[in-house]
Amino acid sequence: MFKIKKQLGQNFLKNPEVVTKIIEAAEIKADDKIIEIGPGTGILTEALIKTGAAIFAVEKDYDLITTLKRNIGEPKNLKIVHQDALWFDLSLFETGKFKVVANIPYNITSPLIRKFIEGEIKPESMVLMVQKEVAERICAAPGNSERGLLTIIVEFYADAEIVLQVPRKDFYPVPNVDSSVIKLKIKNEKRNVDEQMFFKIVKAGLAAKRRQIHNSLSATFHWTKEETIKILELSEIKPTLRAEDLTLDQWFNLYNCIAKKS
Ligand code: SAH
Repeated sequence: MFKIKKQLGQNFLKNPEVVTKIIEAAEIKADDKIIEIGPGTGILTEALIKTGAAIFAVEKDYDLITTLKRNIGEPKNLKIVHQDALWFDLSLFETGKFKVVANIPYNITSPLIRKFIEGEIKPESMVLMVQKEVAERICAAPGNSERGLLTIIVEFYADAEIVLQVPRKDFYPVPNVDSSVIKLKIKNEKRNVDEQMFFKIVKAGLAAKRRQIHNSLSATFHWTKEETIKILELSEIKPTLRAEDLTLDQWFNLYNCIAKKS
């Protein structure tokens, strides 16, 4: 038997219906390449193998790999990689030609999503089990106070939706949070912006979440109130809005006006 390692976010899924729904949401074809992060004891891995796709299961905990092999054998379409998923080399893959399907360790949710959506080589889609609150933050629409930097980063690169709610009792050991399955479809079209500058502006806007957007911007960029209001008007943004109210297009407008200004 293996020992459960809390620090590796080990909460194993035990509801087979949830597994079925994850597989459905992933829309897997037999010629797909799938990366699974943290296969654990293999409940999801086993279902992934049955789709016939080529599965790359990346597991950090060597003890679990032994259990995984014992549980599911070594089918031809499974490659188990003993590694930290954050260090997993994607150079064998091609953008748009692989999918990520996983019940991930929650402590690395944000860096993991960013690795895949911001990196040079991007998946076609990601179906991920994450903490419910994080799913809500990622999918928060304009006007929702949960809308923050992670929301905008994800929306910049992908269309995100919550596909399933999963109660904590569906895991062993039972964690102290509920979960949701999200699906991120990576956008094909690339916006013509300097990403570093774009996100600098987003961060500036979000710096003081409760404040109106003109306050946050003038504080960060050292503009006068008049200057700030003029830029916001040109961007078709009411100066009294808060950063959480802005649509992605409004952030792009703002970026374009600031880029022209400097
Ligand atoms: N997918 C399994 C296990 C989920 S628990 C299930 O649904 O039951 C999270 C899994 O991620 C564990 O197997 C844990 O060992 C693994 N893990 C934790 N950190 C990791 C990392 N940095 N890279 C790869 N796997 C990791």
